[in-house]
Amino acid sequence: MAKIIFFQPHPDDLELNCGHLIHYLATKSKNKHNIRIASITKGEYGLPGAQYDKFKGDFLAKVRTRELYNAQSIHGIPPENIYFFDYVDGLVEFNEEIIMKISQYLDIEKPDIVFAPEPIYTSYYHKDHINTGKAIFYCIQNKLIDFIPIIYFYSTLSPNYFFGFKKEDFSLIDRLLACHKTQFWLINYIKWTYRPKTRIAGAKLRGWKYAEKYRRVYLYKKNKKKNKPSIIVKMLSYWYSSMPFFRAKYPQDLLEMLKKQGRL
Ligand SMILES: [Zn+2]
Repeated sequence: MAKIIFFQPHPDDLELNCGHLIHYLATKSKNKHNIRIASITKGEYGLPGAQYDKFKGDFLAKVRTRELYNAQSIHGIPPENIYFFDYVDGLVEFNEEIIMKISQYLDIEKPDIVFAPEPIYTSYYHKDHINTGKAIFYCIQNKLIDFIPIIYFYSTLSPNYFFGFKKEDFSLIDRLLACHKTQFWLINYIKWTYRPKTRIAGAKLRGWKYAEKYRRVYLYKKNKKKNKPSIIVKMLSYWYSSMPFFRAKYPQDLLEMLKKQGRL
C-alpha cells in the first residue's frame, strides 16, 4: 500500500486530468492505496463575469468545497483525506511562503508518490497551476523535505507514462464533472478536447484505445535522457506560455484593492 497525494490548484482540476487513475488506485487496485487530495485554493473566484460577483468569495468557496467532496466520494475518498491550503484563487505565487507550507505538509504526510500540475511543458498556462507545480517540484528537488517521493506531473505536453482506460469509462468522467455544477461554463469549454487528447495518448499504449498522460520526473543525472522533451514540445510550451488567458474574475472592489496592493 502506498500513500499518494494528488495536488491541485482548484477543486475541479483532477477530474479531467487524473480521474481514471485516482479511481483505479482508490477502488480497483488490489492493495488499495491511501489517497490524499491537496487543494491549494478553494476556487472561490471561479465564475465568469460581474453578474456572479455576489457569489464569489466565501460563498463560492463553500459550494466548491462541497462539490469537491461529492466528486471524491465517487472514488470512495472521504473529506478527511482532503486538505486545503487556503491560498486565494488566482493569486498563487511561487515564493518562499508556499514552498515552506508545502514542505511542512509533505514532511507530515510523507507520501510515496505525489502528483502535481505540469509547470513547464503544458498547454494549460494558468498562473495557479504553474506556481503549484513549481513549488512542489522545488521542495523535492532541493531536498527541503527529509525523504524523496516519486513525482508525476499531469496536464503535460511531454508524457512518459500512460494510464489506459476503455470507451465505456468516459461515464466516470461525466459523473465526476457533474459534481462541479458551478464550473460548467469552463468545463464544457475544456471538455471538447478531452476525447481527442485521450485518444492520441491511448495510441501510445498497446492494448488501450484511450489514456491519461503523465510525466514522471527523474531527479538523478543518470536518468537525464528520460526527462528530455522533444523540440516540438519545447516550442509548443513556449507558445502557450506567451498567452496565459485564464484569470480569476474578481469583484470590482476587490480588483481595485488588489491592484492598489500590486497583487494584480
Ligand atoms: Zn485549475
